[in-house]
Amino acid sequence: MLELENMNAIVKSKRQPGAEITKVNAPKIKEDEVLVEVEAASICGTDIHIWDWNEWAQRRVKKIPIIFGHEVAGKVVKIGKKVGSLQVGDKVSAETHIADGTCYQCRTDRMHVCQNIEILGVDRDGVFAEQFALPERNAWINDPNLDPAIASLQEPLGNAIQTVLPKDHIEDIAGKNVAVLGCGPIGLMSIAVLKVLGASKIFATAGGLNKVRMELAKKMGADMVISAQEGVDIVKIIREASDGNGVDVALEMSGNPTAVRQAFEMLTPGGRVSLLGILDKPMEIDLNNAVIFKSATVYGIHGRRMFQTWYQMKGMLRNPEFRNKIAAIITHKIPFREVAKGVGLIRSKQAGKVVLQPKW
Ligand SMILES: [Zn+2]
Ligand SMILES: [Zn+2]
Repeated sequence: MLELENMNAIVKSKRQPGAEITKVNAPKIKEDEVLVEVEAASICGTDIHIWDWNEWAQRRVKKIPIIFGHEVAGKVVKIGKKVGSLQVGDKVSAETHIADGTCYQCRTDRMHVCQNIEILGVDRDGVFAEQFALPERNAWINDPNLDPAIASLQEPLGNAIQTVLPKDHIEDIAGKNVAVLGCGPIGLMSIAVLKVLGASKIFATAGGLNKVRMELAKKMGADMVISAQEGVDIVKIIREASDGNGVDVALEMSGNPTAVRQAFEMLTPGGRVSLLGILDKPMEIDLNNAVIFKSATVYGIHGRRMFQTWYQMKGMLRNPEFRNKIAAIITHKIPFREVAKGVGLIRSKQAGKVVLQPKW
């Protein structure tokens, strides 16, 4: 495809719920950007927040109108004058956190927590469109044979990998008992990651009696999948199943305050918790028993390390079994024009990932 004058896009044009599919001007790239033709995009929880225009979105999204969407795979169709590492025709995905490259964090090897981060599809126009502009530094070159649908999942898959491996210490996982609290797409992905890294026993919890998610958790390699319902003592079950010791590592993927407390309760002393799930509001926790007396290590997880996580992901995606598991999380592929249906599928919690294809 050549450069377009106009293109189709999914646009949030008013500060209220909903979105529209409409024609907009095609993006113009800057000297250090590339123009990418979208081959697949997947819907994220963040997109649903923007669609619904919930409290978070009302506070967070400043730029209206905005093309939203950020999980993507595509092909470079044009490069800016200063771009040296990419060529027209390269298959790419996007690291969606656009760092300034100059702040204290960026200059001390922590670009993923840049103080002036801009997020694709939140602070600037995103990928639910025929084309989008991407800074060269944020373009990740994909294996040309990688299915674009799978490639579009690398942004959340990178979250999963960062939750499992917040440092490069694989020995934190190999041979260890690990609990994954919450089996949304990123929780499911983290199970597949744990399996490929050689975790011993993997316990997964899923909210309510969600058959779709519980079955997917099994498929990803969980040894035990427990439905988190009233009256089920998850901590006791997991403690007993890990020789009475509790788990070495707990990954909190749900953002549910009960699950956050359970993650610490089921942790063996000296163990580690990674917190990825975002809470709706502040919560109370008994830090003495949860963290201090346990000598627990706690990681807050935000984004992916740039770009260590992407290299780890590239390696894992070379493994066909791992690739097939990630593909299995995609429960629906639908055309862009049916985006409203995709939003409904995700809200129903009966879907894994919903991938949008460039049919307008
Ligand atoms: Zn996302
Ligand atoms: Zn910075």
